[in-house]
Amino acid sequence: MVVRRDSAVGEQGSGGSRKTGKTAKKATPTKKAVPGKKAASARKATPAEKATPAKKATPAKKATSVKRTAAAKKVAPAKKVVATGEAVAVKKAAPVKKVAVKPPTDESRTALVRRARRINRELAEVYPYAHPELDFDNPFQLLVATVLSAQTTDLRVNQTTPALFAKYPTPEDLAAANPEEVEEILRPCGFFRMKTKSVMGLSKALAEEFGGEVPGRLEDLVKLPGVGRKTAFVVLGNAFGRPGITVDTHFQRLVRRWQWTAESDPDKIEAAVGALFPKTEWTDLSHHVIWHGRRICHARKPACGACPIAPLCPAYGEGETDPEKARKLLKYEKGGFPGQRLKPPQAYLDAGGRPAPPLGAA
Ligand code: SF4
Repeated sequence: MVVRRDSAVGEQGSGGSRKTGKTAKKATPTKKAVPGKKAASARKATPAEKATPAKKATPAKKATSVKRTAAAKKVAPAKKVVATGEAVAVKKAAPVKKVAVKPPTDESRTALVRRARRINRELAEVYPYAHPELDFDNPFQLLVATVLSAQTTDLRVNQTTPALFAKYPTPEDLAAANPEEVEEILRPCGFFRMKTKSVMGLSKALAEEFGGEVPGRLEDLVKLPGVGRKTAFVVLGNAFGRPGITVDTHFQRLVRRWQWTAESDPDKIEAAVGALFPKTEWTDLSHHVIWHGRRICHARKPACGACPIAPLCPAYGEGETDPEKARKLLKYEKGGFPGQRLKPPQAYLDAGGRPAPPLGAA
């Protein structure tokens, strides 16, 4: 079974982003249909999106985004973020605003590689403390937490796993557990019956086939119940130090917005993006992209006006471009809020990040 993390709730997913390229062509008719009211209707589309998940709003927005791409050169949207930024790392990205937006039409392979690597470098400055957002002390905990993170947030998983691992610290313990008791612990994660089956099943397989240890090979990991390539790469990259690209819903959306690839199949995205970067950068690249997707480049309302890499992004304008309004869309430490981990790495705390509250706390 292929596990999708964070993939359900409100994500526009592949379809929405993939349309970007086509929309450039279709934008012209849209413009005609909405002559003078364009700005107003585009704004009003936002509340409407809640009721009707954005079908109508999407073309209008995209038409706007395509048109504004060129204008963005001079707007330098990152500029005001610097002035207002509550987030330290957003400030660090200020130099990016000097770079002109490069329309990727007819972009050569070399230019694409350069632009992609530049975006990754900029993101490394924006998120120097990027890390896996699941709390774990060993590969077994990371594997279980990653499986549990399907269809829910890392925060909710982090708030749930302390009780699970306190009661069942090893694969043998979890494999021998009473399923109903495990279900009760996992209830806050959603899909708790299915997830109980998966984590108990993989624990049994670990206990019986791998001596109670998590294997460090892709081909072994993907044979475990509930473990797909993405979960396997999370574990390999973060518990074993083996490079891997994690193609979750954020990764899929962002790389298409950046026109790194037009693929929609996760395995093809993984191959296409992997070819743009040295293997040694794959794990950090995954963190950077996913962190950016969670904090700034959201599915429905990307905060373009507060985005440090706006000058490098062909999709600038797909979201809110007003710096003040965009700043209010920022999440986690970029918006001045707690992060997802209850036990974040020291680098995150040193940068002003705050730990997430335990389950049930306000
Ligand atoms: S938030 Fe940034 S990366 Fe995302 S679409 Fe807007 S400018 Fe591009």
